[in-house]
Amino acid sequence: MILKDMNGFDFEKADKSVAILPVGSIERHGDHLPLGTDSELPEHIAQRAAGMAGAVVLPTIYYGSCHAMRGFPGTFDIDSEVLFKYIECILEEAWRNGIRLVIVLNGHGGNTTPIQMAARQATSRTGLSVTVIDWWKDLGTGKKDLFSSPGHAGEDETSAMLAVAEGKVNIYLAGRHEVKYPEIKVYSKKIDERLYEIALTGDAKKATKEKGEALISAAVEDLAKTISDLRKILEL
Ligand SMILES: [Zn+2]
Repeated sequence: MILKDMNGFDFEKADKSVAILPVGSIERHGDHLPLGTDSELPEHIAQRAAGMAGAVVLPTIYYGSCHAMRGFPGTFDIDSEVLFKYIECILEEAWRNGIRLVIVLNGHGGNTTPIQMAARQATSRTGLSVTVIDWWKDLGTGKKDLFSSPGHAGEDETSAMLAVAEGKVNIYLAGRHEVKYPEIKVYSKKIDERLYEIALTGDAKKATKEKGEALISAAVEDLAKTISDLRKILEL
């Protein structure tokens, strides 16, 4: 069930206990992937998993918080506090409309903290339950070994896009930029500039549609299982 396509009559009758909210970004992804990559992927996974496990898919939030890629043309960086408050409002409205659990399916690293803040705030003010999933880290983990050179717009993300929206990928522009992420998570412009000399990490040339399909199918199954597990835990 896709919320934006439902009419009011159908919405009133529908089982609305569980909803998925995809959140992404408009951000430079090398030269070969669309700017909406981080939104397109969670939206696709959400729609397939919702079909399997039964859930309402809320409209995707396309704009995200993108500090590291800010300098590259095509990146729209939304202030984290604005994003946090915006997501909090959406979660509270979901509750008011009869939704009892929202799975926020995030497609972009910079969004994680604002989403978690929104989840904390909305669940303290209402009876809503929220789970935050960073899909590229938390789903399809059994297929990670397929990729020797993952990264931002790298082998894994490019493969996933070939599987989901091949027509939007210009594979002839795919590049390679191997970097080593520091072992300690550090917020630093200096580190960001070093890592993102170009808007790509890893080797996008190694991407294939087959590897992408394996990753996306595993992610869909994992999400569907998470939904049924949460239904049991929360008695929904
Ligand atoms: Zn991305």
